Amino acid sequence: LGSSLRGTLDDLRGKSRLDEDDVQAVVKQIQRSLLQADVDVDLVMALSDSIKTRALNEEPPGGTSARDHVLKIVYEELVELVGDSTELPLESQTIMLAGLQGSGKTTTAAKMAWWFSKKGLRPAVIQTDTFRPGAYDQAKQMCENAEVDFYGDPDESDPVKIAREGMEATSDAEVHIVDTAGRHALEDDLIDEIEEIESTADPDRSLLVLDAAIGQGAKEQAQRFEEAVGVEGVVITKLDGTAKGGGALTAVNETDSSIAFLGTGETVQDIERFEPNSFISRLLGMGDLKQLAERVERAMEETQAEDDDWDPEQMLEGEFTLNDMQKQMDAMNKMGPLDQVMDMIPGMGGGMMDQLPDDAMDVTQNRMRKFDIIMESMTDAELEEPRAIGASQVERIARGSGTDEESVQELLEQHKMMRQTIQQFQGMGDGDMQRMMKK
Ligand code: GDP
Ligand code: MG
Repeated sequence: LGSSLRGTLDDLRGKSRLDEDDVQAVVKQIQRSLLQADVDVDLVMALSDSIKTRALNEEPPGGTSARDHVLKIVYEELVELVGDSTELPLESQTIMLAGLQGSGKTTTAAKMAWWFSKKGLRPAVIQTDTFRPGAYDQAKQMCENAEVDFYGDPDESDPVKIAREGMEATSDAEVHIVDTAGRHALEDDLIDEIEEIESTADPDRSLLVLDAAIGQGAKEQAQRFEEAVGVEGVVITKLDGTAKGGGALTAVNETDSSIAFLGTGETVQDIERFEPNSFISRLLGMGDLKQLAERVERAMEETQAEDDDWDPEQMLEGEFTLNDMQKQMDAMNKMGPLDQVMDMIPGMGGGMMDQLPDDAMDVTQNRMRKFDIIMESMTDAELEEPRAIGASQVERIARGSGTDEESVQELLEQHKMMRQTIQQFQGMGDGDMQRMMKK
């Protein structure tokens, strides 16, 4: 689906203004991606409306293509909806976890304890699940793995009593994480129980733990837990699977909260603080644009600092020389493999790269080193005009550089492929590459 969104965005290439049909086509693809990612239908519709209105009414800033403009609007609207990560001061506090059975509460409790311990705070997990057989052993084991304090009582059947005694028994700890029982569904006794634990443990914040695959069921869950204990943040678990966690957006929206953590595996270290950019990129099946921009910028700055005379813009406009190739390889090396870089640019993913010869951009460090040596044996004229290099020059260059004619030919072949690739980018007329190189 990401690729069809990409395809639709590609169709906008060259346009500087979007008409209603264009916007409709993009919005339809976005809707498909978001629904596929389990985002709530009403939310998707509300988002679509604001994207449509903005895309049709806002003037793209000078030099920005219509495609980039609409993508930026989509991104901004999603950032607005999903918000920044839940604020978590690194200080003493009590956190309670709520959620259905199997959503990942116990795992998350141990993970969060591990996370706080890495931040230099002393955490303790209090296990109040008396409902699920084995809950005590599971929590105890995970807390051992995380090397954090743990309290539970396998012989006590009253979770409220465990919560009270647990808070006292772990009073040395700075961060108290109260794990609770879940049920298969939102039965009233679960809600009653968690309300009682809440008034006993008196948490500073309660987090709702959701399985990434929750889908459209997120809405009711979020509403019930919000009513019962108040939800200050959401944890999405099992993001290491195929589910994209769109249900979390519903929960965040219903509870007027934000996302605190992401669970990405079964061990205690598999926890990440939420970061809107990568979550949204994943949701849409698009590359990480923010990261790309930063990486390209860094690489270009480094390259330009080394050679003030080299102007990437000019390279893209004029003839692609061996000098350009050398700089280009250098920049690429700093960015990572070019096909991966390209994949992160909307409209330049798979399809574009598939049209190129397989190894057009594959310049490994070893080959680069060899090419560098060969180029040192070339004259300035040859570096600027490689197409004029004939057989006798190849022989001379091979001898001078201590390599062989085959390697010199290989370099010239590589240059030719890159020149053709650059010409394709030049022909795109949309300025992506130019903009990318200029940054
Ligand atoms: P609880 O009933 O809400 O306490 O859920 P548990 O913490 O017991 O987790 C239920 C199952 O999901 C267990 O098998 C966990 O190992 C698994 N699980 C929890 N979080 C993750 C995660 O982020 N990734 C994966 N792959 N599995 C998880
Ligand atoms: Mg549990």
